[in-house]
Amino acid sequence: QRRLDAEWRDVAPKTRDGRAIEIAANIGSPAELDKAIASGAMGVGLFRTEFLFMERRSLPTEDEQYAAYAKVAAAFGDRPVVIRTLDVGGDKPLPGIAAPHEENPFLGWRGIRMCLDLPAVFKPQLRALLRAAVHGNIQVMFPMIAVVEELREARAMMEACRVELEAEGVPCKMPAIGVMVETPAAAFTADLLAAEVDFFSIGTNDLTQYTMAADRMNPHPRLARLCRADNTAVLRAVKMIADAAHARGIWVGVCGEAAGDPALIPELVKAGVTELSMSPSRVARAKRIVSELDLSQA
Ligand code: PEP
Ligand code: MG
Repeated sequence: QRRLDAEWRDVAPKTRDGRAIEIAANIGSPAELDKAIASGAMGVGLFRTEFLFMERRSLPTEDEQYAAYAKVAAAFGDRPVVIRTLDVGGDKPLPGIAAPHEENPFLGWRGIRMCLDLPAVFKPQLRALLRAAVHGNIQVMFPMIAVVEELREARAMMEACRVELEAEGVPCKMPAIGVMVETPAAAFTADLLAAEVDFFSIGTNDLTQYTMAADRMNPHPRLARLCRADNTAVLRAVKMIADAAHARGIWVGVCGEAAGDPALIPELVKAGVTELSMSPSRVARAKRIVSELDLSQA
């Protein structure tokens, strides 16, 4: 693995027919930042911020979050660092927030739904992101978007935070804004969403579970066949989302498990995806696979 990493570390891969593909890393803890850098990742395609909120008694402060986001942004310089806002739900309670009992937490109060309802949780994160954006190429994405109004509301909250920070004389910058496309509703309205964002990142883990109506947490082999991103329905959704992105001239990536899957990388690139974000251990292999692809032969 180390040798493979070293061999590909500085390569910005292109397919044989000349399409440049960004290979980025997913990170979900401070330790993974070092792994991402060592892997030769060309940026961070998904920074899961949940670790800052879990396994503690109180919510992280704005300053704590600012320090964590600024550190990752600075480590990648002008390379993109895509930070996802808090994505917890009924199954993962937040300290100090009474989680309602839900029969189906994955269809419940989670992700952006919860954040929009809890400004006391969401606003410190948005302020921290606006402040950290000064230190690098931060791009912010909202998870679990199902209707365009959620995006508008989140953006308005972010804009209000920016005005606040400026009034306080705190250095800040509005980052690029994107959405995770991981609900069938977002896939079906990708044209409407694309008109209002700077990028899409397709969350194939949830998009697969919701498209196939097959629980991603259910380990039974009876379901495993359905809960796979290589099902035609999921690949068609990816194509539809990529087409909608291209029609508006915005970039589209994949940050679910499929992005690092050797069998799926060719399919995703063929569909028009130009960024793949994965666990650091898969970065070098993905670069090699992309370099061997020839779409003119496909
Ligand atoms: C996804 O849903 O594909 C994704 C990347 O997010 P998570 O696995 O954190 O839900
Ligand atoms: Mg998800």
